[in-house]
Amino acid sequence: MNKKIKTAIIIGSGIGGLATAIRLARKGYAVKVFEANPDFGGKATKIEKDGFFWGFGPSLFTLPELLDELFVLCNRKPSDYYKYHRVDPICNYFFPDGTRLSAHADREKFAAEIETKTGEPARHVISHLNQIQKVYQVTKDIFLFKSLHKLRTYLAFKSLRALFNISTIGIGTNMNVANSRRFKDKRVIQLFNRYATYNGSDPYIAPSTLNVIAHPEYNQGAYFLDGGMPDLSHGLHQLAVELGVEFVFNAKVEKIVVSNKTATGVYVNGSFYPAEVVVSNMDIVYTYQKLMPEQKAPVKVIQSPKSTSAVIFYWGIKGKFPELDLHNIFFSDNYPVEFDYLTNKKLIYKDPTVYVFISTKYQPKHSPDGCENWFTLINVPHDAGQDWDVLVAEARKNVIAKLSKNLGIDIEPLISSETINTPKTIEAKTHSYLGSLYGNASNDKYSAFLRHPNFSSEVRNLYFCGGSVHPGGGVPLCLLSAKIIDGLIR
Ligand SMILES: Cc1cc2nc3c(=O)[nH]c(=O)nc-3n(C[C@H](O)[C@H](O)[C@H](O)COP(=O)(O)OP(=O)(O)OC[C@H]3O[C@@H](n4cnc5c(N)ncnc54)[C@H](O)[C@@H]3O)c2cc1C
Repeated sequence: MNKKIKTAIIIGSGIGGLATAIRLARKGYAVKVFEANPDFGGKATKIEKDGFFWGFGPSLFTLPELLDELFVLCNRKPSDYYKYHRVDPICNYFFPDGTRLSAHADREKFAAEIETKTGEPARHVISHLNQIQKVYQVTKDIFLFKSLHKLRTYLAFKSLRALFNISTIGIGTNMNVANSRRFKDKRVIQLFNRYATYNGSDPYIAPSTLNVIAHPEYNQGAYFLDGGMPDLSHGLHQLAVELGVEFVFNAKVEKIVVSNKTATGVYVNGSFYPAEVVVSNMDIVYTYQKLMPEQKAPVKVIQSPKSTSAVIFYWGIKGKFPELDLHNIFFSDNYPVEFDYLTNKKLIYKDPTVYVFISTKYQPKHSPDGCENWFTLINVPHDAGQDWDVLVAEARKNVIAKLSKNLGIDIEPLISSETINTPKTIEAKTHSYLGSLYGNASNDKYSAFLRHPNFSSEVRNLYFCGGSVHPGGGVPLCLLSAKIIDGLIR
């Protein structure tokens, strides 16, 4: 007797949606992905203008094994789809007092560089990197690789070990307190506090466990995809198509249909599409508010403060800057005040920390000859009704002045191409609630560890993937959300 092929519908083709589509297709489902945009990728899409190429959002690539794993699982060779290389240095840091240092890929060399440039003993850096490696080993099985919300997670031996070690992972203090105990030099504290921004949080509040975010970069390596980060979504999309996944673009899902406490399909453009499994890759707040307003939303998760957003200036620059590398950070003169603006005032500090990512350094094809593509990002609050036109105009002036001062040349006349994204446009393009980049902020113990589960406890056959749910924001965690769903659907 022929077994009926079950249908899975995925709402959205961000990294989480693409990875879930692949995993369910491999499981034997007929998978249909509805994407509101004309193209796949969500935040991991691309921008092409005036001969320049930029990734829309993510720039740092870590834990590549999580991506490779997906291709190997489907009997594919990852290098047939994308290629990547380890980067060195990982990042060039510019401090307001004129100090410049390079975070080398080699840990000992990085620690020695810190000692030479700041006087902070190299052994403190090595000890910090060892500590966060330990925290990663202790926490990954329970907080990252499994559904934190299923009893069997707690019953697994590794998870129990993680729970027993919980006092060692630093939930009781914030990142800045822990880093100030470890390091004497303010610049080194600022450098390691920065990792709170990787999930849109505030190092002066977020639990020190989040220092673990620096672990993949320093202990395992930072990587560059040959075609830039959009290669990632491109490779995933290609694999999904090969596995028979059907993509429908310009197709905004309007409703998740629930009958007898079971998800039975979705409405798109007024038509009903039935399914045995529905997975939402849409931001979890909007999934509840827009797609199933009649369902009870878990108040605490939904109302938790949201992560920061970003203003990004995608600049085509006429000229080459040898002192810059792939990743560059220009720190603000007052980090606590900068975060007070982000977290409390919901405004942009006059001297923001500026991140400049230049993929042309590794991929010359991303710019015309003699030029560089600067993806220039500052962290900003999520949208809270601010006048973004005014804030962005002011920030643009301040960023240009800061970079010009640091580089010893007025960069404004060198900008030959410009595109700008703000919390408003990020929300419009990716449907992220308030334009926040990573869903809930991880500024308290609860929100740092308990995000919305990858399944609905009220509605059968309904699952959630992507950066706004467990285990969190960022490309590797979005890939893990798909892996967790794979494990949940038996
Ligand atoms: C500026 C910026 C910088 C970042 N930097 C990094 C970095 O360096 N490293 C890193 O790892 N991560 C980074 N991130 C975060 C990372 O990009 C995201 O965590 C990840 O790409 C989010 O993937 P996702 O699966 O949540 O889907 P999203 O990218 O949020 O995509 C969701 C998709 O669903 C679609 N959708 C929504 N609602 C509907 C609907 N009703 N019907 C149909 N389709 C719908 C949207 O159109 C969108 O395509 C950055 C993000 C940004 C914006």
